[in-house]
Amino acid sequence: MRRRSPVILLAAALAVSTVPVAAASASSTADHSSAGQDRVVTGELWIAEGQTRTGSEITAMAVRDSSGTFVALDAESGLRVLRDAQVGDTVSVTLRSGPEAAASTVISGDVLAPAQDDEQDGQQAAAEDEAQTELSTSGPGVAGGLLDVQRAATSGGATAGVPHRTFVTYIDDAAVGGDYSEASARQVLQLGTDYWKRETRGVLSGWNVAAAKKWTRTSTCSVLSDSNPNTLYAVWGAAAAQYPSANFTWKPGGDTLVVFVPADCFSAAGWPGWTGMTTIGTGLRSGGFSFIVVGDEGTMAHELGHELGLGHSNVELGSTLSSHILEYGGIHSVMGIDVNGYSAPALDAALQYGLGVIPASQATTITKPGTSTVTLSPVSASSGVRTAMFRSVGADGAPVIYAVEYRDGKGVDATAAYAVPAAAAFPLWDPASTTVSYAPGVRVYRLEAGELAQKGLGSTTMTNPPAGGKPRTATFTSGTSYKDPAGNFTVSVGAVGATAAVTITTRAFAVLNALAKSTTTYGKKRSFVGTFSNAAATGTVTVAEGSKVLGRASVSAGRVTVPLPKNLKAGEHTLWVSYSGTPGATGFLPERGPVTLVVKKAKAKAKITATKSRLKRGRTAKVTVQLKKVLKAKPTGKVLVKVGKKTVSKKAKVVKKVKVTKKKHGKKKHAKAKKKVTFVAKVTTKKLTKKGKVRVVFTPKNKNLAKKTYSTKYKVR
Ligand SMILES: [Zn+2]
Repeated sequence: MRRRSPVILLAAALAVSTVPVAAASASSTADHSSAGQDRVVTGELWIAEGQTRTGSEITAMAVRDSSGTFVALDAESGLRVLRDAQVGDTVSVTLRSGPEAAASTVISGDVLAPAQDDEQDGQQAAAEDEAQTELSTSGPGVAGGLLDVQRAATSGGATAGVPHRTFVTYIDDAAVGGDYSEASARQVLQLGTDYWKRETRGVLSGWNVAAAKKWTRTSTCSVLSDSNPNTLYAVWGAAAAQYPSANFTWKPGGDTLVVFVPADCFSAAGWPGWTGMTTIGTGLRSGGFSFIVVGDEGTMAHELGHELGLGHSNVELGSTLSSHILEYGGIHSVMGIDVNGYSAPALDAALQYGLGVIPASQATTITKPGTSTVTLSPVSASSGVRTAMFRSVGADGAPVIYAVEYRDGKGVDATAAYAVPAAAAFPLWDPASTTVSYAPGVRVYRLEAGELAQKGLGSTTMTNPPAGGKPRTATFTSGTSYKDPAGNFTVSVGAVGATAAVTITTRAFAVLNALAKSTTTYGKKRSFVGTFSNAAATGTVTVAEGSKVLGRASVSAGRVTVPLPKNLKAGEHTLWVSYSGTPGATGFLPERGPVTLVVKKAKAKAKITATKSRLKRGRTAKVTVQLKKVLKAKPTGKVLVKVGKKTVSKKAKVVKKVKVTKKKHGKKKHAKAKKKVTFVAKVTTKKLTKKGKVRVVFTPKNKNLAKKTYSTKYKVR
């Protein structure tokens, strides 16, 4: 969502305080409010992003089920329960609806299938059969692995010449003014298209309007109130239904729906004060849903940015906030707040990297610890190195990517808000009403991980505390520096002019750079093996699947072996590998990432006997097949007999048999009986007609066991 600058917001808030706020919850449907009843919903996860007038962000989550219906989730519980989930994943959630609830509370949830990453699937297939897989570098350069995790990297997703197919709806609501016409709606969309064509250097060719329709409806402003986020999806759904041929989805090649809401809704009673809202996509080719209220360049470009998978640009404010982060407060970025009347700034270089549109020669990635000096061209320049990126760790020990760029306030940025003198003392809306200087200079920011990353690939600008009568600073000028509070890195700024000289010093670290074999078989012993770039590395490596820890081991002599359970179910497992080093000792860098482990089905051992050792043509034969369990996998299922290629029996069921033998010489009177469990199928063949070798085919019921054909010592003569 996009909101106007604090000055504008203040005026809107005053206007609203004298008018009763419309009861928006009245519009929640019966389906979503059956009191106290839990229900399970399965489908794709959708997240739409925005911000209220008070500065707190608003997230509207929903699951789209197989019928295409959106079921809204309460975002607070949704983000917590589904913290491992990303936009587009297939999830199953258990919901509890209360009579007053605007959206259902998420009680529990699971990711059933991650959003498909075709390239990774291809890599996995190539890595079959015991091949060693690289853990940390599934994408390009230093940042690739993490960017892939955040699903913002769109390697292979370049859409040169392939515009987004776009459907435009403009609302006609008699109760409110400022309705868009088809012409004005198209004009606004064009502003966003022009921005993204420019900032992707032509990789994106725009949003082409396939159809535009007027939609006459009522109560538009109050229905879209932020106090009831689920109605957003209901309105999008109703607008989308008017284009039956369209396929609105976050998936590559998905269509885009932009609903233009009467501009006067922005100041109407009960209206939340946002100017746009959009679902988060997964990359350059994603489609999705947007609302546009205020039709300026900044809003339109920002909303389309969400559709491309980008999250908000934030600012870190030391300890003035409990979270330290003011979401949306990064005004150097189009993904931050839209300061009314100023143009959208050049796209952050690290976001260009995330979208895969920056040439490799224009992004330096620092992979080794120590000191590096980089000459940065302005972020809006068409040549030269425009960003230096490096890895470090966040306060919670999780790996984070930092980026450094030079914002000179010239070129396309000359009319951006940060380039005007007023931005040297920009008032924010955090509880402490912090003032921050965004004046031109070198900007240090990190790409967001964790909950913020769920809302798209976001960025947070680092700041230095107020000093010498000047406010907190979000940019660093010649002779100043930014020092990471944990001491993991320092960025020092040298000469600044047409370019900026920057020195980046990062601490020594150990990188986990080897791995488990990517394929194993159910029931077999398998370990995750890692080696470290630094033999002095200490700490623990943990391998987990979701929240379940599968194994943990200490690092010794630069090496670690983590045994994995034998009973991992057959199929694909996404394992997370994390390394906790020893902060402050040798310096460290935890590394983690998804490793796909394919567990193959196990083959059950079989003992096969026939009643006669010589099987003759013209007669039937009786064959007994005894199968063995593999770990806990019971070999029930069916068997049939073949002679040569010909099937000579019906399918016979494998039956579990328990043989009880009483203990004869037990010392105790009631000595326990001995139980022997076997799995047996008895097959009688049809009259045998052909010569050939006898074979038995076992089709197991258990999903951890493989279908297998067994050869036998028997022959038909
Ligand atoms: Zn937004």
